[in-house]
This record gives sequence, structure tokens and C-alpha cells, in this order.
Amino acid sequence: MALATELKKHFGFDTFKGNQEEVIKNLLAGNDTFVLMPTGGGKSLCYQLPALMMQGTAIIISPLIALMKNQVDAMRNFSEDDNVAHFLNSSLTKAVIDQVKSDITAGHTKLLYVAPESLTKQDTIEFLKTVPISFYAVDEAHCISEWGHDFRPDYRRIRPIINEISRRPIIALTATATPKVQHDIQKNLGMLEARIFKSSFNRSNLFYEIRAKSQNTDRDIIRFIKQQDDKSGIVYCLSRKKVEELTELLQLNEINALPYHAGLDPNTRAANQDAFIMEKVSVIVATIAFGMGIDKPDVRFVIHYDIPKSLEGYYQETGRAGRDGGEGHCITFYSSKDLAKMEKFMQNKPLVEQEIGRQLLIETAAYAESSVCRRKMLLHYFGEEYNIDNCGNCDNCLNPKKQVEAKDELCAT
Ligand code: ADP
Ligand code: MG
Ligand code: ZN
Repeated sequence: MALATELKKHFGFDTFKGNQEEVIKNLLAGNDTFVLMPTGGGKSLCYQLPALMMQGTAIIISPLIALMKNQVDAMRNFSEDDNVAHFLNSSLTKAVIDQVKSDITAGHTKLLYVAPESLTKQDTIEFLKTVPISFYAVDEAHCISEWGHDFRPDYRRIRPIINEISRRPIIALTATATPKVQHDIQKNLGMLEARIFKSSFNRSNLFYEIRAKSQNTDRDIIRFIKQQDDKSGIVYCLSRKKVEELTELLQLNEINALPYHAGLDPNTRAANQDAFIMEKVSVIVATIAFGMGIDKPDVRFVIHYDIPKSLEGYYQETGRAGRDGGEGHCITFYSSKDLAKMEKFMQNKPLVEQEIGRQLLIETAAYAESSVCRRKMLLHYFGEEYNIDNCGNCDNCLNPKKQVEAKDELCAT
């Protein structure tokens, strides 16, 4: 059967998105495959379709319990068989785990989602040794790298465990495309020879803007949001305290806003997130804990009250705007003073992490201070060349200005 027919049969889609078809062919041919595709590009299908087509069970390694559950539910919706997909993670009881294992052994399960912490457990390994495996997918593969924005030490143990279970093709997928992270992933997963499928990371509908941070920043933000006519937006702050303060200030100014950070109790957090997704509230003020795996298509603006920790983080967070292809206004407030503050934040971390954190911060500061097209700089950071002189959709292209040098303050310490 042609691949397009399989796509239609299993998912109801008429055509592949981007290079999905080439990726899938490469994996079906038994080759290690590396997929670099921006968020929303359609990475899941690159392993879901082959999993349904191949003999055995595909092992999908995925970091977030919430994402896992969503994906399993989605797969069950597409299929008539509830056993087509299962997950194993720390949220399950022993009885459920036993049920999952017996379903897999019965041979109906095409996709098994596992959290890295579950994969590294000896009894999971022993069990998987008894299962015919089609391939391994490592989703959110940037978690392998300390240079990524979401490092998970357990991700580094994946490859030795695969060797122990049984060597099958590996497909690694990520929306993080910095050359450093890419190299880390390939090296750690032992797939330096893998074929790489890289899509463009350009988000042409996003307007990138850096504003100087000052005493007027709060007023700036209020004015900007008031002009947005209740459109959805996210304001990112570095600290929980700032999230609380700013939410209150926005509310005082009759802006419909709610806070989101890891210090809130889980119920409030979930309720606030739902209120945003269901459009009962237009603005969410959040730490970067907010947004992972949230697919709200019509976020119209993302404001960074504080400079992000890395350009990678900046790209991911601003990337939550304009998912539907419509406009997305991304404003970051920057002052060189904030750099020192952020360095302080890192001081109780291990030295290696501090050094990495500092390097990432310097790159972000350089971006903020530059007079070069933001899009060009951002894409360059992802190893992508952008050859258009004026992107027409960033502050530096619309209002060319002279360069300032302030990041030296950071290097002086
Ligand atoms: P990513 O993991 O790259 O962020 P997802 O796998 O979550 O992206 O896919 C994003 C969206 O694109 C999903 O809603 C998915 O159903 C949709 N999608 C994926 N492939 C196709 C396709 N070939 N045709 C239409 N929609 C697709
Ligand atoms: Mg994904
Ligand atoms: Zn530009």
C-alpha cells in the first residue's frame, strides 16, 4: 500500500506535512533517523505511522506524563483498538502496569510510551527484552543535552539501555536545532551516521522586538495589552514573585489576567491554564513552567518581562505566538542590569552548569543588543542561513538603529 494511503487510512489526512514522508521512508527502511522540526511541524506522525505499519511494538520515549496521556488518547481515537497505544510512567499503579504489560505481550500494542525514569528501571528493561520491538523513538531529544533548554539526566542513559534490550532503528526528534544540541544528541544516542531531516525554523509571521527596560516598563506593558482588544497573550517573568506582582497590577488596570507558576497548587495551576485555553481569560502571566505542550493556536502576543535564559528558550517561548499562522507580536524587555541579576540566580548551581548558563546568557544579550535583523540572528543561531536583507517583520528591520555594547558588564565579573 502506498504511504499516502496508509496516512489516509490511519489518520484521515490527505497529504504529508513538510518532509514527513521522507522521514518515514527512511525509518521504514531500517535506518537511524534524526528529525529537526519546529514545534507544530508534525513530528509525532513521523513515528506514529511507521509504528502502525511495522511488526512489533515501537517504544516512544517522551519526557512529560501529560503529553504522553494526550498522545495515547489521540492514538486510541484514531484506532478501533484501545490496546493500540499504552504508556508506562510513575503515575500508574502496579495493577495497571501489569495490565499494560499483558496487553503488550498479547501483541496488539503498536506504540508504548515510556518516561525515561521508567525505562531505566530494571524490571522495565527485563520486560522489554521479551517484547518484539519495531524501533525506538526519542521524542523531545534535546533533553539529552545540557545545552538544551530542558536537560534530563535520565535521557543520557537511553542508548545503553537500548543496547541492553535489543538494538533496533532509532528515530530522534526535537524542535531544538542549535548545532551544539544536535551534536550532543547524535553523539549520546550513538547515531552520528543517522540521516538528518531538518526543516526551516523561520517563523515569518512573528514580529520580534526588543525594548529597553526602564521604570516605565509596567506602564508600557499595560498600554500594549490594552491595545490588543482582549486577544490572547502570555507574559513571561523570571520569578514567581514577579508573576504575582504583575498579575495583580494588570488586574488593577482592568486587564483580564491570571498567574501561572510552579509555586501555585496544582488545581489552581490547571484551572488557570484551562481558563486561558478556553478564553475565559485573555492574558496569562507566567514563569517558563507555562507552555510546554500547550497548543493554543491563536496566541497573539508573547512578552518577556525579563530577558530569557537562552536564545533557545526565547525561540520556544515566542514560538507559542501565532501557531495558526496569524500575527504574533513578541516583545522582550531588556536591560544590561538584568544580566547581573540572572547570573546571581545561577550561583548555587554546579560550576559546569553556571558556565553553560553564562554562555547562553551572553548569546541572548548579544541578540538583544544587536542591530542586525532579529530573524537573521535567530536562524543563524540554529545553523540556518537567512539571506534576505530586510525581513520586514522585526524592530531592527523596520527601524534600523545603531549598535550598543552593554554585555561587557557580564564578562567583567
Ligand atoms: P510537533 O510534535 O512537531 O510539535 P505534532 O506532532 O504535535 O507537532 O503535530 C502538530 C499538529 O499537526 C497536530 O495537530 C497534528 O494532528 C497535525 N498534523 C500532523 N501531520 C499532519 C498531516 N500530514 N496533515 C495534517 N495535519 C497534520
Ligand atoms: Mg511533539
Ligand atoms: Zn528583520
